[in-house]
Amino acid sequence: MNQNPNKLLQIDLGSLGCWLTLLVVVVLLGSAGLLGWILNGIAILFLVLLFAPVVGVFVLRWWLRRNLIEDQCPVCDYSFTGLNNTECRCPNCGEPLQVTGGSFKRLTPPGTIDIEAIEVQTRPSDPDSLPS
Ligand SMILES: [Zn+2]
Repeated sequence: MNQNPNKLLQIDLGSLGCWLTLLVVVVLLGSAGLLGWILNGIAILFLVLLFAPVVGVFVLRWWLRRNLIEDQCPVCDYSFTGLNNTECRCPNCGEPLQVTGGSFKRLTPPGTIDIEAIEVQTRPSDPDSLPS
């Protein structure tokens, strides 16, 4: 019966001591002129924490606008987006591509020669010139 009030008193004294220590520290800092400095630091930290995500979002959007490239695959003309100065694969045909200068370029192994097929128009030959 006698232990409980003692325990409560100890806890109260402990928390009181804690608050007293805090108060003494605050008074000492205030008298030394450091309290305003620390409060300014806390305010600046709070502002930085408040504005860092907003600035981060703007920087991320700016970076994405600069580095997100939308172009067509040079092989199958499938339109998709990729990050600048990276290598990726076309999601449609699986061709390895390199994103440079705002467009997709084929990643070809050395020694590969790219040719472009052209359509040759054939005219129906003259029936008179046909050998009979
Ligand atoms: Zn493709």
